[in-house]
Amino acid sequence: MEEITSKNFIHAFIEEDIAEGGRYAGQTVHTRFPPEPNGYLHIGHCKALIIDFGTAEKFGGLCNLRMDDTNPTKEDVEFVEAIKEDIHWLGFDWEDRFYYGSDYFEKDYEYAVELIKKGLAYVCELTPDEFKEFRGDLNTPAKSPWRDRPIEESLDLFARMRAGEFEDNKYTLRAKIDLASGNFNMRDPVIYRIRHMHHHRQGDKWCIYPMYDFAHPIQDALEGITHSLCSLEFENHRPLYNWVVENVSVPHHPRQIEFARLGIDHTVLSKRYLRALVEEGYVAGWDDPRMPTLCGMRRRGFTPASIRNFCERVGVAKSPNTIPLAFLDFCLREDLNESAARVMAVLKPIKLTITNYPEGQSETVEVENNPNRPEDGVRQITFSRNLWIEADDFLAEPIPKYKRLFPDGPECRLKGAYLIKCTGYNTDENGNITEVLATYDPDSRGGDPADGRKVKGATIHWVDAETAVDAEVRLYDNLFNAAEPDTSSMESLVKDLNPNSLEILTNCKVEASLKDAKAPASYQFMRLGYFCPDSKDCTAEHLVFNRCVSLKDSFKPQ
Ligand code: ATP
Ligand code: MG
Repeated sequence: MEEITSKNFIHAFIEEDIAEGGRYAGQTVHTRFPPEPNGYLHIGHCKALIIDFGTAEKFGGLCNLRMDDTNPTKEDVEFVEAIKEDIHWLGFDWEDRFYYGSDYFEKDYEYAVELIKKGLAYVCELTPDEFKEFRGDLNTPAKSPWRDRPIEESLDLFARMRAGEFEDNKYTLRAKIDLASGNFNMRDPVIYRIRHMHHHRQGDKWCIYPMYDFAHPIQDALEGITHSLCSLEFENHRPLYNWVVENVSVPHHPRQIEFARLGIDHTVLSKRYLRALVEEGYVAGWDDPRMPTLCGMRRRGFTPASIRNFCERVGVAKSPNTIPLAFLDFCLREDLNESAARVMAVLKPIKLTITNYPEGQSETVEVENNPNRPEDGVRQITFSRNLWIEADDFLAEPIPKYKRLFPDGPECRLKGAYLIKCTGYNTDENGNITEVLATYDPDSRGGDPADGRKVKGATIHWVDAETAVDAEVRLYDNLFNAAEPDTSSMESLVKDLNPNSLEILTNCKVEASLKDAKAPASYQFMRLGYFCPDSKDCTAEHLVFNRCVSLKDSFKPQ
């Protein structure tokens, strides 16, 4: 985790840029977050969000939200709304600066015409196959027989491309840069292509669409972005980004800075694959609590604080990094340990009868809501002769070192209530244990012996069978068994799925205080982990809890 301590190089660059004599001396730092609305945001996007919005915040600047809908495919209103909701949930706000990349199509077109007029762009008519053939290699420059097409001719053809005279791929508009460049992005890149496709916002107004590498710098420049922060795969595109802002008459010259994408083990962070998992039914939806999407994580019980904290500690690195999923759990556990109320729930119940407690009698005992927050006080829970305990807190035949209940075993503490001793058990005709029997010490109310004797057994949790509420509990494990899921094809990816990533327990018993539980809320089920009511399926009639994270910590910071 060396990144945690390393200096944030983006902030260092920006400090230089806004200092006296710097390229943006005296200007407001202005960034943007440009998601493509073709899926839901995932934890990788959070890193970008925190870099974009967080950097603006740090420098007292602004950050725009811009839907990158330059491509006329797959965008969907559902995704636009979900992206906005997720960003607000994380605690960031774009105020009134919400844009669509497609809003600049007219401007993109004008700047393309400007390039043609300057002799810096030409209409090329290589077919896609010829284009590949003439691409050249490191030792051979690319070729285009159309490079020296007269300006007037290119202007005319480009206007007719827009007017819809030609079929897809018949012509392209290419920037005239350098066919021999070692950077293939600079070998006269295509900046416009013909696509007779409907655009979700522009309708059928356009049949030519700008390429991202041309449209993106223009969008940034028109919005007055000073620092265009993006992930590392755009590093080789930076010369083209700069070429565009230098050669068209845009009002601002933003600077592109790249950072490494966030990778996390045991999951995939690519909308394409996440989408396929949803569409092919391997998960219950984008918000399935096993998904690394923000809506999935929210439903799983992640808090904005835990996610922001995670991203901040992972840091901003220039080199690619894969972070253990366990570290994400660690950040959540740390947050919930502070904030979550402690309650009692029994996931795999077995009946416990306190044989010397009078039938029909009941009392209340007090338990602390959160030992980390004494100000949260205590609550009353009922206690009676009939309780539920965890089935594995009893063994008919003890194993070595077993300190919980077994016949004639050690005295155990029922959390917050009394000391008990197991005296025996009952079975059904098949020999299955149906009931554990115990006696209690009436002088140990609260859980401590009156005479100060040492309690040798464990403290176990329980719920009162008279008042307990039934619940369904969903336990989650890693979505993928493989640390690095094989993304070479969907088929191989599916092979790496963990078939046991979801376990549903339907016969759970939770204390009565949870009968109105509703998301968002999180609880520590004592001895079991952190749980939250499921935001979709939990109702007063049918309680459903998700395990956010177990208590056990498998992450060891170095
Ligand atoms: P995906 O592969 O999931 O589709 P993308 O880059 O196509 O990702 P966009 O919607 O274009 O998704 O991403 C918006 C912003 O989020 C971009 O600036 C992109 O660089 C950034 N981003 C996406 N994934 C990650 C990641 N894993 N780590 C950091 N930043 C990311
Ligand atoms: Mg993208």
